[in-house]
Amino acid sequence: MKRIAVIGGGASGLMAAIAAAEQGCSVTIFEKTDRLGRKIPATGNGRCNLSNLSLGQEPVTDEAYHGSAKTLFLPVFTGFDLEKTLDFFRSIGIPVRSEGERLYPYNLQAASVIDALRDRVERDPWIEIRLEQEVRGMQSSKGRWQVQTSAGKASFDAVILTAGGKAAPQLGTDGSGPKLAEATGLHVTSLSPALVKLQLGSPYCKRLSGLRLDACVKILWDGKVIRTCTDEIIFTDDGISGSAVFMVSQAATTLLEQRKQPMLELDLFPEMEAEDLFILIRQILDSVSWKPILEGLNGTLHKKLIPVLLKETDISKDRTSSSIKDGEIRTMIGFLKHWKMKIIGHGGFKNAQVTAGGIDGTEIGTDLQMKRFPGLYAAGEVIDIDGDCGGFNLQWAWSSGYIAGKNAAEQKG
Ligand SMILES: Cc1cc2nc3c(=O)[nH]c(=O)nc-3n(C[C@H](O)[C@H](O)[C@H](O)COP(=O)(O)OP(=O)(O)OC[C@H]3O[C@@H](n4cnc5c(N)ncnc54)[C@H](O)[C@@H]3O)c2cc1C
Repeated sequence: MKRIAVIGGGASGLMAAIAAAEQGCSVTIFEKTDRLGRKIPATGNGRCNLSNLSLGQEPVTDEAYHGSAKTLFLPVFTGFDLEKTLDFFRSIGIPVRSEGERLYPYNLQAASVIDALRDRVERDPWIEIRLEQEVRGMQSSKGRWQVQTSAGKASFDAVILTAGGKAAPQLGTDGSGPKLAEATGLHVTSLSPALVKLQLGSPYCKRLSGLRLDACVKILWDGKVIRTCTDEIIFTDDGISGSAVFMVSQAATTLLEQRKQPMLELDLFPEMEAEDLFILIRQILDSVSWKPILEGLNGTLHKKLIPVLLKETDISKDRTSSSIKDGEIRTMIGFLKHWKMKIIGHGGFKNAQVTAGGIDGTEIGTDLQMKRFPGLYAAGEVIDIDGDCGGFNLQWAWSSGYIAGKNAAEQKG
């Protein structure tokens, strides 16, 4: 019987083990922490956004994915698509519901997803689970793979590397996956945090901390817009967070790693053209003409933002609403639709949801086997592919895990 090692018992590792065992292989999962799938309860703010409905609509594209291995998404996903993913989850007792395009377990509890996955692998007679066994090296010799763990050596017909990236090291992923790949001789692209909050060089963050609103966020470099997203933003003590920021963060962190200076631009009225906003503000200020401007804008802008707007546009807060000239309103609109701030840092891997970078896409075939290392497969975040917010990273973990497991099992010895 074919023996397969799965290195890392997270989302992709569990799927790889299940798929390989379904093909009749004997599978050993090596997990360095004391629990399988430690990250899953933390996903989706404890609700586990496990996929995205847009991946069920034709034509499916890879536009939600980034990185040198992005082109692997479509061939891999075709083999284990949204329908198969949802069928799988139903088969282990997890029906799914949608909120907008985001898919969650029906009870909105991430813990039940990992409970069901654990139960599925623990009951499988072909899967052996070795907890608290860190893999420290792997080597191919005479068509077999030797795996060196904290508890000794073992030999396998194939190895599937599913040890994740570097994001959220407190949940087990401290970068040992990419290091193992590199030590084996694979090219690994540089790692940076993605889906992470950004630190801003702005004196207003503390004052605005906690403020949530929908905005269009742009990352600029060298005067050009390189990434943009409209969704929720949340000001923090030292910067900005929220799904719109997460979506564009990878572009900023990559530039920062390259010691380049990205800028962040906010459009606080993304749904309105500048001219419509001008008409709105003019009408509002005229209808409350006697009020000080600080109060006059109260119903139009969040209260915390008005002093910032007045300071940035040099308008005294004591002036009456009617005294504000058209030109001054246009200056205000320039700020509200193009508020630029320096990005001076990011939340680091500790606060990131995903790792950008990993095993270079040129090393990997569409069967997820390493082209230069027969018998070595990879899946999940250890590969240089990262998805947008919205369930795309877990979908990649489920699909790539399943396909790597199936192909490793079917590979001719
Ligand atoms: C807070 C948070 C929220 C998130 N929310 C979402 C969400 O809602 N939707 C979404 O799509 N994505 C989300 N993600 C991203 C998603 O969880 C990951 O992309 C996905 O879990 C990656 O799966 P993986 O199997 O590749 O790696 P992981 O799930 O990280 O698993 C890797 C496993 O390998 C183990 N390991 C590492 N090194 C070794 C070694 N040397 N030997 C043995 N074992 C090892 C680790 O302990 C870990 O258990 C979130 C991430 C975080 C941190």
